Amino acid sequence: RQKSSGRNGHCVFDVQFGQEAARQLEIRETISEALEHDWFELYFQPIVNLKSRSTVGFEGLLRLIHPEQGVLPPLEYIQVAEQTGSILEIGDKVLELGMQALQKLEADPDWRDSYVALNLSAAQFLPELPDILASNLSAYSVSGKRLVLEITETTLMQSNLDLDKLIARIKGLGCALALDDFGTGFSSLSYMNRFDVDVVKIDQSFTRGLGTTSLGAPSNKTAPFIEAIVGLSQKLALTVIAEGIETEDQLQCLIDRDVTYGQGYLFGKPKPLDHYLRGSQEDRSAVISFPALPEPKV
Ligand code: C2E
Ligand code: MG
Ligand code: MG
Ligand code: MG
Repeated sequence: RQKSSGRNGHCVFDVQFGQEAARQLEIRETISEALEHDWFELYFQPIVNLKSRSTVGFEGLLRLIHPEQGVLPPLEYIQVAEQTGSILEIGDKVLELGMQALQKLEADPDWRDSYVALNLSAAQFLPELPDILASNLSAYSVSGKRLVLEITETTLMQSNLDLDKLIARIKGLGCALALDDFGTGFSSLSYMNRFDVDVVKIDQSFTRGLGTTSLGAPSNKTAPFIEAIVGLSQKLALTVIAEGIETEDQLQCLIDRDVTYGQGYLFGKPKPLDHYLRGSQEDRSAVISFPALPEPKV
């Protein structure tokens, strides 16, 4: 802040802007190092049937394993990668790691039928995406039916492509589409109905509003919204997954409201896949494999 006593009334803003720009530059540098040295990994979080607690699939979540800074969570660098365009190269890496995970799961009789869900940025939602998916699936001999792609309504909103055609081609590969962070955008309900999606993921902010407070008082502020989402999903034959389940209380509230699937720290944090594959006996005995998603409509 050496300029803060200067005549220029905007100097504090300038300094903050400078710090922000420096941070962005640092992140850009880290991203290109990470791509060069192969520092990106996928961690996996189990998605479970809430009543039986059996794992039906895993969501792949990107991590940058920095040799000095340790494990870096994705939000900050994904945003920068989206701005610089390197998200496409990162996305290719995510897809490759996702395919490797699916191969590993298939090789293990306990996990053979489980699926993998991968997150896509708006920038990856391009006309060539179906071809990229198809060539990965065939290179790794993986069935598209075991791959779920998570997109947000913002992705659909920002796109000026022929989305119906693009979605139809993706679904033609057998892949399912999930609307992530559902309920946080501006026009959730219209997107639920407008596009041929299969899964709705209730955002963790709704899950957080369920259960009892730390003082023991019931607090179901968000329950009406969850009930509305479940009601609509049932009418539209969509699968519902609740995100961010941390307590038994929240779990019970979701089961009471007919939410079928969920994920959260209560069941398992994002970890390298081997953590779950070579998990404790307890983890393994909880596994019953069955298809978690409706058959593709095409
Ligand atoms: P998301 O797809 O909505 O993923 C859920 C986030 O919630 C993850 O954060 C996960 O670690 C966290 N989470 C899971 N269970 C709980 C819980 O019980 N409590 C709490 N407080 N949090 C929980 P993460 O891994 O930091 O990822 C953040 C976001 O980054 C993701 O949100 C997704 O939008 C994006 N992202 C992650 N991986 C990728 C990727 O490979 N590609 C792209 N484009 N985006 C990704
Ligand atoms: Mg997601
Ligand atoms: Mg989410
Ligand atoms: Mg998110």
